[in-house]
Amino acid sequence: MNDEPIGPSPAQDEYAMRLALDQALNAQLAGEVPVGAVITQMVDGVPQVVATGYNRPITTHDPTAHAEIVALRHAAQLLGNYRLPGCTLYVTLEPCAMCAMALMHARIGRVVYAATDPKTGAAGSVIDLFGQAQLNHHTAVEGGLLADAAGGLLRDFFAERRAAQKAERDAAAASSEPLPVPEVIESDFGALR
Ligand SMILES: [Zn+2]
Repeated sequence: MNDEPIGPSPAQDEYAMRLALDQALNAQLAGEVPVGAVITQMVDGVPQVVATGYNRPITTHDPTAHAEIVALRHAAQLLGNYRLPGCTLYVTLEPCAMCAMALMHARIGRVVYAATDPKTGAAGSVIDLFGQAQLNHHTAVEGGLLADAAGGLLRDFFAERRAAQKAERDAAAASSEPLPVPEVIESDFGALR
């Protein structure tokens, strides 16, 4: 078979990643960690956006609601197929193990991510699930596209959150109200939580 479709150009990749960054901002507006994803499919040589998603586990009470999973579910519903072989998924943060496996189950053709995730990244940072030949037969992976923009968004978000927490503590300390005594819970390990 020689009908392998021609993929997106570098400029088209960048455009799609900018859309994923917009999705990350949506997450931030909802008070979620800013991560966004976009799935595209080539139609007559032009990438079309099939679905978008942003990180929202807190607002939906759903630990699986990472940007990639949200976008995957939308795309699969829309295309009426649980497999998405001709699609590219763009995500602003390196996928975690859950998302990496979901992307491989969906047989996504290509994954492009922006910033690396040294804490939970499963595309090489902590573990490289895509690099496991026993697991991955279909999905190509590239990282680093617009990594500075995506990483900056995350850094600003966490810096803001730390500042807000500090302000809260300072306000509590400055008020005449006695600080609430934290409930002491002893775990089996003897540690206080
Ligand atoms: Zn994930």
